[in-house]
Amino acid sequence: MKRLTGPFTQILPLTGLPLKGPLKDSQLQVVSNGWILSNNGRIIAICTLERLRRDHPSAQIEEVMDERVVLPGFIDCHTHICYAGNRMQDYALRCAGKSYGEIAEAGGGIWDTVTATRGASEETLTELLVRRADRHFSEGVTIIEVKSGYGLSVEQELKQLRAIKAASYITKAALVPTCLAAHIKHSDFGGNRGEYLELISKELLPVIKIEGLAKRVDIFIDNSAFTTEQAIPFLERAKSLEFDIIVHADQFSAGGSSVAVEMGAVSVDHLEATKDRDIKMIANSNTAAVALPGASLGLGMGYAPARKLLNAGACLAIASDWNPGSAPMGDLLMQAAVLGAAEKLSAAEIFAGLTVRAAQALRLDNRGTLAIGAPGNLQLYPANDYREILYNQGKLKPMMKSV
Ligand SMILES: [Zn+2]
Repeated sequence: MKRLTGPFTQILPLTGLPLKGPLKDSQLQVVSNGWILSNNGRIIAICTLERLRRDHPSAQIEEVMDERVVLPGFIDCHTHICYAGNRMQDYALRCAGKSYGEIAEAGGGIWDTVTATRGASEETLTELLVRRADRHFSEGVTIIEVKSGYGLSVEQELKQLRAIKAASYITKAALVPTCLAAHIKHSDFGGNRGEYLELISKELLPVIKIEGLAKRVDIFIDNSAFTTEQAIPFLERAKSLEFDIIVHADQFSAGGSSVAVEMGAVSVDHLEATKDRDIKMIANSNTAAVALPGASLGLGMGYAPARKLLNAGACLAIASDWNPGSAPMGDLLMQAAVLGAAEKLSAAEIFAGLTVRAAQALRLDNRGTLAIGAPGNLQLYPANDYREILYNQGKLKPMMKSV
C-alpha cells in the first residue's frame, strides 16, 4: 500500500552530496512543505502534495503533521556500548588531575570494564546493550556500530559478539558489530602483546567468520595498546580473512593513521593528534576519518582537526565513541553540534558526517539518505528551519517515524 506522509515544513533528503571535502549549506537540498510517498517501508518520492496526488492518485494519506523538519536517521559509526559496570571512579580521578595513562597504569581504565563485562552473562550484556541502543534510537540514531573489546580472551570476546548479535534482533536500531579484541592486551595473558595478537588472529578471527559474528576488525594503535609494528601482521591476517579493517589511530600520539591508510582501512578513528602530513594522506585515500568529540569532552582534551581534514578533501564522519570510560554521555547530536562550533563546520558538513559519510565509514550502501529506494526511517524535529537543530546544540530531540 502506497502511503503519503506530510506535510513537513522542510525535508532534507541529504542526497547528492559529495562524500569527501568541504560542504556549504547551499549544497543541501531542502524540500519545503513537502510530502513523502512510501511503499512497504521504502521511499518512492519526495515533493509537493499536488504533484504526488497527480502521479499516484490511489496513495493513501495516513498522517498529517506540520512544523516538522525531517532528516534521515543518524548513523553512529563508532561505539563501545556492549559493556557492564561503569567508570565513575575514573571520571572523578581524571577531574582530580590524573591522566588517562596514569589511571590505566594504576589498574583502572579499561580493566575495570573488562572485569565487570567478564563477570556478566551474555543475557545481561544483551539486555544492557538493548537498553543503550534503544535510548540512542529514541534520540535519532537508527544505525549503531558496536565494538567488542571488553572480553580480551577468545571465549570472552565471543560472548560479547554473541550478545551484540542477540541484541540486534531485539532493539529497533540496526547494529553493526566490530571485533575489537585488539583493544589492549589483558594483564592475565601470559605472553607479550605480539603473542596476544597472534592468538586472536589464529583462534578468534576464524570463529567470528564461521559464526558470522562480525565483518569488521578494529585495533587500538597507541603506546598503551599496540605499536604499528605489532599491528601490521595482525591487520594483514584480518584482511586475508576478508574482514574490513578499522584503526583507533592518533588519539594521543601520531603514527597509527598512516599505517591504517597504507593498509586500506575503511576508517581511521580519533585523530586528535594527527599531523598535517597524515591529514593529506587520509584525504587522498578511500579511508574515512571519524571524529569522536565525545571522547574529547570526556577527557577534557582537544578535538580532532575536523576543519583541516575537510579542507584537505577527506570524508569526515562524526561518531559518539560512547563508552563507559572516556565518553560516557552518548549524546551524538549534542557532541556533533559542539564539534561544529569549535571546528567551524557547516550544518551540511555535520549532517553529512552523521549520515551519508558515516555510512561510507561503515561501507553501507544506500544508507544515511532519504533517496528513492532507501528505508523510510525518519527523524522529525519540532522546528521550522533545519538550522534550529544545531542551534539548540542537542537539546531539540526528534520524534522517530517509519513510513
Ligand atoms: Zn573507540
